[in-house]
Order: sequence, then C-alpha cells, then structure tokens
Amino acid sequence: MKALTIDGYGLEHVAVREVPDPQPAPGEVTVRVRAAALNRLDLWTLSGALKIPHEFPHVLGADGAGVVESVGDGVTGIKPGAEVMINPAASCGRCEFCRAGEQSMCTTLRMLGEHMPGTFAELVSVKASNVFPFPEGFTFSQAAALGTTFITAYRMLFTRGRMSPGEWVLVTGIGGGLGVSLFQMARPLAGKVFVTSSSEVKLERARAMGADGTVNYREEDVGKAIRNATGKRGVDLVVDSAAGGSLEPSLRALRKGGRLVNAGATAGPKVEVDIRRVFWNQLEIIGSTMGSDADVSDMLRLVAGSGVEPVIDRAYPLGDGVKALERLDEPDLFGKVALEIP
Ligand SMILES: [Zn+2]
Repeated sequence: MKALTIDGYGLEHVAVREVPDPQPAPGEVTVRVRAAALNRLDLWTLSGALKIPHEFPHVLGADGAGVVESVGDGVTGIKPGAEVMINPAASCGRCEFCRAGEQSMCTTLRMLGEHMPGTFAELVSVKASNVFPFPEGFTFSQAAALGTTFITAYRMLFTRGRMSPGEWVLVTGIGGGLGVSLFQMARPLAGKVFVTSSSEVKLERARAMGADGTVNYREEDVGKAIRNATGKRGVDLVVDSAAGGSLEPSLRALRKGGRLVNAGATAGPKVEVDIRRVFWNQLEIIGSTMGSDADVSDMLRLVAGSGVEPVIDRAYPLGDGVKALERLDEPDLFGKVALEIP
C-alpha cells in the first residue's frame, strides 16, 4: 500500500512510500482509510522530539476515517463495509484504569502514528474498540476530523471540566484544531463563550461563528479583559492547551470557584502560578488527555444531535502530505487540515 512515511526525522524525510499492507491481528479491524486529519502531534513525531524508537519507514497520522476492509479473529459486531472514524488512542484494556472505563488514563496509552503505524495510509489496523460509526451525512474528511481534537475537547469541557448548560466559558487560542473544536462544542450549551487569539482575522472568524467576546492577547491582558466583559465576575470555565505565560492571566479570568482545564503546553511547559490566587478563590486546575471510550461515544452523539460540523481548513491529496504538514504552521490556519486518499 501507499503511505505517507518518514525514513528519518525532519520534514525532508517525509514521502509517500510503498509499505506492506497491515493485516488485522486478533481483536483488530483493518480500515481502508478514505481521509485522515492532521494534528500538531504529527509534527512532533516527525521532528523526533518525542524520543520514541521508530522502525523506518514509519507511517504518520493519528486521525482517520474510512471503510472496514477486514476483521481479525474474535471480532464481533462489526463487518467489512462499515463506515467508521478512528479513536487514535490505543489502550491496553487490562490495567486498573482501562477496567474502570478510563481508557485515556491507561498506564501504557499509545497513539496511532506516534507509537504505532498511523492513518496517513491506504490501510491501517486498529483494535475493534477504536472504531466508531460517525454521524450521518458527514464526509470522510469531516469524520476523520472528529478524532484527536473533538475527543480531547469533549473530555476537557464535559468530563473533566463538568460544564453545565448556561456556563460562561473561555477558549484560549482559537484557530488551531483543538481551539475550534472546543469553541464549536461549547457554543450550543454555553451561556457565553469568549475566545483569545493573537490574530484579528481569527477573532473576527470566531465572532462570525457566535463568540460573545474576543480578546487579542498580544494587545490586552486576558484576565482584565474577561473581567471587564463579565461585569467583574469572570468565567466559570477556561479550556486551555497553551499553558506557558498564558496560564496566569487565564486564572485571573476565572470566577471564584472556577475551573481551568488544560490539555497541552504549546506556549511552554513551565508555568508560574501565585498559589494564593488558587486557594483564596478556590480555583481548580484540572489536567485532561484524549478521552475514554465513553467520551468518544458521547462526543459523537453530541455532534450528531447539535448540527456541529468540523471546520476543514483545507484538504490535500496524500501526495501533497508535506504541504499539508506545513499548513499546520501557517498563521492563517483555521480548523482542521485533511488528507484525502482516493
Ligand atoms: Zn490500560
């Protein structure tokens, strides 16, 4: 089969190569991938920064959607021909967290395309429990785009963030796949949704999609701007994947007893927090990663029922994989980048 692979670290090592077709092991299904979606994770993997030992050529790609081609021994309830989206987080199914239904806390959690051959390929094999039917009417690109970012966003907002209808939510960093997914899923239930960005174009786009207020963090202090926009109260929930220097202003944007859920550190992993602000205001700082099987099902039900459709920034053919990866770093990116595999 053809696959977008690396034979070393760096963008110059990315190419479409011929690799052996994967077969489904017992308990697995092999999916004929019709579309894949890109994540920053793919850039980290190909940079070698994750220090994971790879067998080259290594197939990139976490998110994908397609048609079940074949099923391995012991797989029931799913047949060749089924149209599915893939949850890229592979859990062991045996550790105490998996047994408790907390698959994203699995002690050996691995990701497609990062620790194992990924979705930027004509075929990929995954555990049968990692494929899900997707909402009717969705294209394969849209279904692929429901992977990493929508699963992560659902868990951040609802499972870890305990968002209630009517609450006021701040989404930091609108524009990338996760920020847009968070905004889209918070919007139908939130009382107010605020977003931040350093780009006026992205803030304008967010207002057009229904943001109640926007803050350009290069020009304004986020904490002060949000307090001004909420009658000094602050928001109930901040959902953030930037951390770094943005975390402290985000905490100042919270109401008393508010929650901040973080699922990334694109602005830097080290954070300085005045702990007095946390205990005096009884704030919660909550970590989140990917989602459980229940989070995936619940996300798909919410998407199917709410009319939310993933925003596809651009779609490229598999052969233009390098251009697609480069697109992730372009400043006007808004939503998900997809790869289409005919
Ligand atoms: Zn486990």
